[in-house]
Amino acid sequence: MSPLDTLVREAASLGGAAPARVIPIQPMTGSEAEVARVLQICNACRYCEGFCAVFPAMTRRLDFAKNDVNFLANLCHNCGACLHACQYAPPHEFAVNVPRAMAEVRLGTYSEYAWPPALGRLYQRNGLTLALALAGGLALFMMLAAALHGGLWGGVEGGNFYAVFPHNLMVALFAPVFLFAVLALGIGVRRFWRSEVPGTASAAAVAEATHDVLRLKYLDGGHGEGCNNADDRFTQARRRFHHLTFYGFLLCFAATSVATLYHYLLDWPAPYGYTTLPKLLGISGGVMLVVGTVGLFWLNLRRHALQQDLRQRPMDRAFIGLLLLTAASGLALMVGKGSAALALLLSVHLGAVMALFATMPYGKFAHGIYRSAALLKWAIEKRQPSRLQLGDD
Ligand code: SF4
Ligand code: SF4
Repeated sequence: MSPLDTLVREAASLGGAAPARVIPIQPMTGSEAEVARVLQICNACRYCEGFCAVFPAMTRRLDFAKNDVNFLANLCHNCGACLHACQYAPPHEFAVNVPRAMAEVRLGTYSEYAWPPALGRLYQRNGLTLALALAGGLALFMMLAAALHGGLWGGVEGGNFYAVFPHNLMVALFAPVFLFAVLALGIGVRRFWRSEVPGTASAAAVAEATHDVLRLKYLDGGHGEGCNNADDRFTQARRRFHHLTFYGFLLCFAATSVATLYHYLLDWPAPYGYTTLPKLLGISGGVMLVVGTVGLFWLNLRRHALQQDLRQRPMDRAFIGLLLLTAASGLALMVGKGSAALALLLSVHLGAVMALFATMPYGKFAHGIYRSAALLKWAIEKRQPSRLQLGDD
């Protein structure tokens, strides 16, 4: 009898709510089968029930099909609490490592739900190279265009960006990339949602999921003291740097949106002064993004080796790096717009922004969207009667 069989039978003999037998695992990928294996052990143990949403969702299932595994993997925030608390973690023979098993499945979901799938697979294999090559290639293209248009060095009176690249040209370049990112992400999240529809979303479920997304509730370790990163100590640093990055990105996006409204509705084109709304939003968002991404990169370097999937690390660092390059080049552009380097800085910034949006549907950003969808699925599911009906016997 395997150690897993023994554990499950012991739990059943103690009268716990654990399954009385081991449910056969349906054919899945190796990573998905590993999640199903560790969750069967967790379902017998249940020590981590209060840590996050994954464990209460797990207890509503006795076996774990492909769709269950993908849902639970995207519900996991990789806080590490269940690894550092686990008595069956390596070097125990059960080798239970929930965060890594979940991370490996999430990596698969990036390409499984991605649209078009070939781009998802390409990014999964070469995330870091692709992101850097795209940012570098696009920046070079913009530099070449600037050099042909009026010169790459020398400055422009009043720091006017549109003297380097006319407004309509920038719109023509960005609109397709932005619309492609929205379309690809929309198709991806629709595929994820349709893999298992939990029911209709009530207002209460939507409100709870929104609250949990905006607060990153499940990076608090379940006790409010924060997650584990490098070791057994709890830290709020990951949650704070995530918040700085997320809200910094939103402020930058809001700055661009307000500037667009100014341009088209008020007939007030850029450049804007330091006390205008687009500038205030852009500066505060840019600073938050720089601090947040530098902090996330530092934490990523220090992450406990058992807690991460090494194949995913280049993708994570590519996304953090592109966000940092976008924010830092945006701030440098603001400071240096009156200098001779305006066209050069503008080319680098535009290349970084386009590369960021073009790769968004295939990596860490997509995970944020899938995780939000998984939190909404959970908020709907928990309001419904359990399918197990264990109390009706
Ligand atoms: S991670 Fe370990 S301690 Fe937590 S429920 Fe699973 S088996 Fe139990
Ligand atoms: S790593 Fe954190 S979020 Fe993921 S399953 Fe474990 S406790 Fe839950």
